[in-house]
Amino acid sequence: MNVEIMNEKIEAILAELTLDEKLGMIHGAEFFKTLGVSRLNIPPVKSSDGPMGVRSEFYPDQWVASGHNDDFVTYGISNSALANTWNRELAYNTGQVLGEEARGRGKDIILAPGVNIKRNPGCGRNFEYFSEDPYLTAELCVPMIQGIQESDVAACVKHFALNSQETERLWVNVEIDEKALREIYLPAFYAACKKGNAYSVMGAYNLLRGEHCCQNKFLLGDILRGEWQYDGMVVSDWGGVHDTKRAAESGLDMEMGVTPDFDEYMLAKPLKKAIESGEVEEGCVDEKVRNILRMMLRLKMIDAAVTMTLDGKKEVKVTTNTGRKRGAFNTPQHRQAVLDAARESIVLLKNEDKRLPLDIEKQSKVLVIGDNASKLQSLGGGSAEIKALYETTPLMGIKELLGGNREVIYARGYFVPTEDESDVNWQETSTGDDSTQWTASKKRPLTKKELEEQKKLREEAVALAKECDEVIIVGGLNHDYDVEGADRDSLELPYGQDQLIEEVLKVNPDAVVVMFAGSPVNMESWSDKAKAIVWMSYSGMEGGKALAEILFGEVNPSGKLSETLPCKLAETNAYALADGLGRALTEEEKAGYEEHLMPHLTESYTDGMLVGYRYYERKNVPVQFGFGHGLSYTEFAYTKPEIRVKNEKVNGAVFVAEVAVTVTNTGAMEGKETVQIYVGNKAADETEPVSELKGFEKVSLKPRESKEVRIPLYEEAFMHYNEQTKAWEVVKGDYIIRVAASLTDVKALLEIRV
Ligand code: BGC
Repeated sequence: MNVEIMNEKIEAILAELTLDEKLGMIHGAEFFKTLGVSRLNIPPVKSSDGPMGVRSEFYPDQWVASGHNDDFVTYGISNSALANTWNRELAYNTGQVLGEEARGRGKDIILAPGVNIKRNPGCGRNFEYFSEDPYLTAELCVPMIQGIQESDVAACVKHFALNSQETERLWVNVEIDEKALREIYLPAFYAACKKGNAYSVMGAYNLLRGEHCCQNKFLLGDILRGEWQYDGMVVSDWGGVHDTKRAAESGLDMEMGVTPDFDEYMLAKPLKKAIESGEVEEGCVDEKVRNILRMMLRLKMIDAAVTMTLDGKKEVKVTTNTGRKRGAFNTPQHRQAVLDAARESIVLLKNEDKRLPLDIEKQSKVLVIGDNASKLQSLGGGSAEIKALYETTPLMGIKELLGGNREVIYARGYFVPTEDESDVNWQETSTGDDSTQWTASKKRPLTKKELEEQKKLREEAVALAKECDEVIIVGGLNHDYDVEGADRDSLELPYGQDQLIEEVLKVNPDAVVVMFAGSPVNMESWSDKAKAIVWMSYSGMEGGKALAEILFGEVNPSGKLSETLPCKLAETNAYALADGLGRALTEEEKAGYEEHLMPHLTESYTDGMLVGYRYYERKNVPVQFGFGHGLSYTEFAYTKPEIRVKNEKVNGAVFVAEVAVTVTNTGAMEGKETVQIYVGNKAADETEPVSELKGFEKVSLKPRESKEVRIPLYEEAFMHYNEQTKAWEVVKGDYIIRVAASLTDVKALLEIRV
């Protein structure tokens, strides 16, 4: 719709609304719904989590699931898995599924994708995010958003911004220099808004430079609305607003929360009072309503016919859902899309002696060990939880694939404590002081009896492993660890898994290890002994099937790590160069706050630009597996690459050069390779990365097939944020371009003078 026509409709509707009606539109009246204006036929806005599929229905004002059987959905792959595909098309397809299912379930907004940068590998919500790298995150979130919004559903990019830990998530204040802010933490949001045209953005819980993100004038006003000219809808994180005047005067449009006192929300009665007393101008509310109406028009939730009466007055008639797409959920196509993405999300970390793939036809028993082999993961994680129509576990996937011709034995192998589910849903107390209690209890030390049980399970598994020649261990983390509301304080494997894996490998050195996790774990105690290690993340309802296909060679693995697997948490940037999860406020810092806005912690991002591989590479820190790493069952040969200097304008952008390299599949199996381009300024100093990902392309090759891969480098690849001029500028100089299969497998170096 043309902007002028849209604005005319917005203004005509706005003119009809009373203050109370407007206020009803800008805050939750239920946990996932605002108030509509039935007098004018304006519907409420309905949202739902989340990143892996549409969440189940809740009662309007109680954190109790409706309990009906009409809200099962397609369980899709997490962003941590999706990012390992390095495949833009799969990101688009994943978005399409999410959007269509959300619409199918009658939602207007799907609260996804999460695009925060994985600064701290221990962050509980990393499974919801893509990568430690802003370029990879941006490249994948844009097609995902486009896929979502095709169904007339708004994507909601979250959490804006710097939400990189769960510890004190509502009360941690982030201090950061401007360069790191602009170059590491904001690019994905920028791309989501400018290239992806995301119709909505969710503010983060944390504070930035002393102000909560959901009422932060610098972030929402100066940057988002000002510099980026964003005219979409900005919603708070649930319970993320703390002050009426500040929220009213920031770029926030809608306040949502986790408590049922909807009228007491900051943008409800308290705002009305502030307007009536003259403390806040009504114009603030109008601006919010405009943004909400604009989103509604874009989604075809509403349309408005504006006519002129005989006495020269404008009249407006609102209609709903005219020409809006109908969604669908639980379709076979959706399940196929999830399976396609899952297959490419699995990463082969190690494959000594070509241990994998396993032979389907071999006449022997298969022993599968590990709680994660038979665990249903969809139900956990926090707001990303899914009521899946079904979920194929790894064990089920293996059994389905082997089809009864081989005996499959299962041994749990390690003990996972379970707590009686509390009657109180975690989200009900998620903004209170004891918000992490719900996960803490699940990570407690084992009781004596449980330790005995653990030993028994281990001994059982080891005894069986001695007798079986085909052993697959499936361990890693689960949503007691990859979870909203709490961080990990170490990368060590829980539940005594190291000992189990070591002992199994001792009696059966051919055992294959699968690590199923949403964030890095330390595998050092056994990784040099294991011949084959496979990495997978939460891969949706078909994850177990995809894994089985990879293990038995029906599918060739093509995933690559979208985050480094470091060794120890203490050796990562957030801990080695900064305070880990934050430090107490100084008295001086405290003095600057009003009581109700005082942060509990300060997290100074003194690691600056050195996040993830940017840090490990600059400081020569050894890691377990490097960024971009992932093997295949076939081999790829790279020719000597060429750099073709262009320096021409294409669609308003300067096309600097193209890197061309021919890749040949020299093995016997069809496979996919992702060529990665890292760019580094030779003159970069100690505070800057040696190189940064600036391009990638995934190609599919049959045996003996060759393809030329061309990767363009636009001006953007050589631009940095200049803190003095407050602008992005091309930094002239000599650059090294690495053509690589991963950051630890560089095929060639090229040079270019910019
Ligand atoms: C989370 C959001 C989520 C919201 C609604 C909050 O706890 O941080 O990501 O969308 O709840 O469930």
